[in-house]
Amino acid sequence: MHDFRADIHCHSTCSDGSDEPLALLRKAKDASLQGLSITDHDSAAAYTPELFGLAEELNLRILTGVEISSELEGIPVHILAYGFDLASLSFAEFLREIRERRTERNSAILKKLAENKMPLSEEDFSGLKTKTIGRPHIAALMVKKGYVGSIQNAFERYLKDGATCYAPGFKYTPEEVIRRIRLGGGKAVLAHPHFYKKKAYVKKILSCPFDGIECYYAALPKQLELPWVKLAKERGWIVTGGSDFHGAFKNNPLGSSWVGEETFNALLQ
Ligand code: AMP
Ligand code: ZN
Ligand code: FE
Ligand code: FE
Repeated sequence: MHDFRADIHCHSTCSDGSDEPLALLRKAKDASLQGLSITDHDSAAAYTPELFGLAEELNLRILTGVEISSELEGIPVHILAYGFDLASLSFAEFLREIRERRTERNSAILKKLAENKMPLSEEDFSGLKTKTIGRPHIAALMVKKGYVGSIQNAFERYLKDGATCYAPGFKYTPEEVIRRIRLGGGKAVLAHPHFYKKKAYVKKILSCPFDGIECYYAALPKQLELPWVKLAKERGWIVTGGSDFHGAFKNNPLGSSWVGEETFNALLQ
């Protein structure tokens, strides 16, 4: 048995993961984790009394989490919020507003796909249980319709940030999202910084007042993670890590990155 480990970045059926929240808890237990944060996109719907009940039964510690979509210069910037107050009405309302933006942005993506002879209808989405629909759902339907060979292919050719069928539309800047997370009693952590390619752009994001940064991510090689650990230490930011597990929508195994007890507790406060 290893020391305390908590995977604090994963997605459930409340957004674009393929496991129900309760099933995720069981998977976390099977993966020998002692703590978990379910960080669905723009939704805290996973945090039900049933979830906390099962966590207690399984002796699994829970940290509230959500991955919020902000936007800078038309490119999405994901910010993880941890330890916020589930009873904060203003924070819940903020998330609801972002989900509304998401719906509008999805419509713009679907319009572009239709213009490129890859129409998807309301009916195609009717089987989905989640209210927080995202690009992975759209990509999966494109595969089902035979437009592309795989989800990865759908992203590479059409859906990735800036691609021909991508559409912006998330209204809030990273700074505003950070401010709202704090008002909701939470801590703001920049998610997967490794994926931003342009230096000047990264510099702009890093000028925002984060509390922490996700240095350890899925199964990335250590040499890609360590520069971010160094940066975090220089700035006094909390070093976090998580798998970004999405079940069938992505190949990242649950528990492939994690945080220890000290970090988990720091985010909980
Ligand atoms: P959305 O919230 O609709 O913007 O979708 C974001 C999700 O799409 C991320 O959490 C990833 O799971 C997935 N995603 C984003 N970019 C890519 C990419 N280039 N390749 C594969 N999946 C991606
Ligand atoms: Zn996702
Ligand atoms: Fe993300
Ligand atoms: Fe994620």
